[in-house]
Amino acid sequence: MTKPRVRFAPSPTGPLHLGGIRTAIYNYLYARANGGTFILRIEDTDRSRLHPQSEKHIIDTLHWLGINPDEGPHIGGKYGPYRQSDRLDIYLEFINRLLKDGKAYLAFDTHSELNRLRKKNKSFLYSKHNRNDLANSLNPDSPYYQFRNIDSISKLERTDFVVRLKVDQPIPLVVEDFLRGKVTFAPTTLEDKILLKRDRWPTYHFADIVDDYLMKTTHIIRGEEWLPSLSVHHLIYQAFGWKPPCFLHLPLLLGPDKTGKLSKRDAAIYGYPIFALKWDDTKGYKELGYLPEGLINYLSQLGWSPPNVSQREEVFNLGDLVSNFTLAGLQKKSAVVDFEKLKWTNQQHLSNMESAEIIDEFRPFLQDFFKVYSQKEVEGIIDIIKPRCSSASDLTQEAKMFLNVPDIDLSIARKVYSDHWTEILDFFELQISDNEDRTKIKTILFAWGKSNGIPIKSIMQTLRIALVGKLIGPDLFNIINFVGVGSLIERVRNAKAITPKIM
Ligand code: GLU
Repeated sequence: MTKPRVRFAPSPTGPLHLGGIRTAIYNYLYARANGGTFILRIEDTDRSRLHPQSEKHIIDTLHWLGINPDEGPHIGGKYGPYRQSDRLDIYLEFINRLLKDGKAYLAFDTHSELNRLRKKNKSFLYSKHNRNDLANSLNPDSPYYQFRNIDSISKLERTDFVVRLKVDQPIPLVVEDFLRGKVTFAPTTLEDKILLKRDRWPTYHFADIVDDYLMKTTHIIRGEEWLPSLSVHHLIYQAFGWKPPCFLHLPLLLGPDKTGKLSKRDAAIYGYPIFALKWDDTKGYKELGYLPEGLINYLSQLGWSPPNVSQREEVFNLGDLVSNFTLAGLQKKSAVVDFEKLKWTNQQHLSNMESAEIIDEFRPFLQDFFKVYSQKEVEGIIDIIKPRCSSASDLTQEAKMFLNVPDIDLSIARKVYSDHWTEILDFFELQISDNEDRTKIKTILFAWGKSNGIPIKSIMQTLRIALVGKLIGPDLFNIINFVGVGSLIERVRNAKAITPKIM
């Protein structure tokens, strides 16, 4: 088998979102699983939708995820340039080739004329059925017929034309999609698509095909939204006499409510971002403290499952994914995004990491802790809170109880309050001040409770309210072990101070 060459070909019109990332992941995995090449190509021919920050966002996202291309605009490669706006001369050369071979023609119809025809007939298509009535170089009755043999557009003084593909397909066009099998397009749906626009920029369809041909793409793995374009893409291959690559259209990513394609709004409703990296003022998964591997793991399962692995296994690192990835594991059914599952997957990856590794990965999130605690102590704190955290933001949130004296939740304190409240706090304060060895505190408290008829539950809940502010958090004695004496005493005194409000 020749080594695959696959490409991720985003249009830089905005941030790279989860759907695009999933496409990039599958391309990357396929290339890596087969010793092939993963190409990044920037398809920036639609100048009106171009966003100046987008290309950087795409490259930075791939970099953060660790799915770096082998060829691309930022690293070059044998088949560059990899940004379509740097390839305009190439497209003109191929347009001329089609004109010369009679596979394309010039059309001078104005926007207003075409709009008038579309208004008159909602299903208007520029095609072999009506091109002889329109303003183009194939219509013998038009003044443009004089351009019928033009083989290079640079020879023309006029610029008010587009170049269209001449489609004469008489029978249904049957094309193959790897996941769907044969896809049939009726001749009546086939249009003489524009290949070169009035501004001399190629259309997406044309540039995409020329580039895939020149870059020797073997497999086109892209989103289902491009399936309707498959007909025109095949027709362009036919016009050049080129063999098309293998096409594979990935299932749509649906939002959690399953009503449509995942959108930024859907994600926001659930309180999650739709980008891996920050865009404008919206944080991405990176800034929220997710792990690249968690995100890759989750997204890779939306439309693919490893054929030989038990369905129950859901946690994979990048290496596992590469070694298990086959196109046969892809499915055509739409995949529904479940943000809770994404969070869970990330949590699995986080809890599999050593606390020291977590610190290395998320040091910026943990700055405040290093002001108070040593590296070893922070590691100890992370060991304690890790099982309860899905991301680094959770870590900082959870770890706050080791840093700050909490605000006590009065409504919960009221429920916990008992006649022993002050007694427990007094005894604890005394022990904390006196007792150097805090590992013994548990035994001491329990023995004291027993001999004074104070239920253990009451002791634990009272102290938890005092030390944490509410009835949640990791093991209380772990907190007592880490927090400094000064802070413990301050917490106990705070709890005593609220007594009149809760009794
Ligand atoms: N430029 C297209 C996009 O923005 C890529 C389509 C393709 O992969 O052929 O998604």
